[in-house]
Amino acid sequence: MRKSIWLLIYSFVLVVWLCPVRAWAGPAIDDGIQSARKMDSGHFSIFLSAGVDEDQLLKRLDIGPDHKILAGQTLQGAVFSPGSLTDLLDALFIWSCGVLDMNLYNYRGNIKIVKEPGQLGEVYLKLYGVPGHADKAFYIYETNTIYITEQDFTKEILGHEIAHAIISNFFVVQPPQKVAEVLAGYIEFQLRKLGGNRPHLQTLTAGAVPAVTAGN
Ligand SMILES: [Zn+2]
Repeated sequence: MRKSIWLLIYSFVLVVWLCPVRAWAGPAIDDGIQSARKMDSGHFSIFLSAGVDEDQLLKRLDIGPDHKILAGQTLQGAVFSPGSLTDLLDALFIWSCGVLDMNLYNYRGNIKIVKEPGQLGEVYLKLYGVPGHADKAFYIYETNTIYITEQDFTKEILGHEIAHAIISNFFVVQPPQKVAEVLAGYIEFQLRKLGGNRPHLQTLTAGAVPAVTAGN
């Protein structure tokens, strides 16, 4: 009996040891990207390539105080600033976790932002040795990294990739690609709906802040 328990423990350790580990557990993988700047948020390490402008990213992301995304973060007790890229990315992450009902409180991942769309193809080719098809953004599970261009740094496209990161990290056994795609598409759809509601900025600046509720 005692022998069989040890055999079980030994087998478990062996299986865990032999399991394919994430790239961050091993030597860094060269994706060919030269980052000019690194920022850290609660959930992400964010790498900006040369020429990528933080103000442009904020503008493209276009998340304002009237978006429910920020209310989600407020409810969790975090303090956010609508002008802070790191805060907004955390808010988007927390909101997406809430919508998917997949909370990952200790999640940390990478977001790499490149200047030109063509650079994503080069990254994919460098990592996999074959041309990739995504020229706006993609997520790589093995390195837990989202790649996205400055031009496509919208909450909808980024939210789609963040959803892929959440789904990949939530499940121990990865769901079928089609299922992941449907869920990521759902997050993107919810964000597009939010986008259409934007502009009560006049009301906001007039001081009559409308009540905002979390979730969607
Ligand atoms: Zn997708």
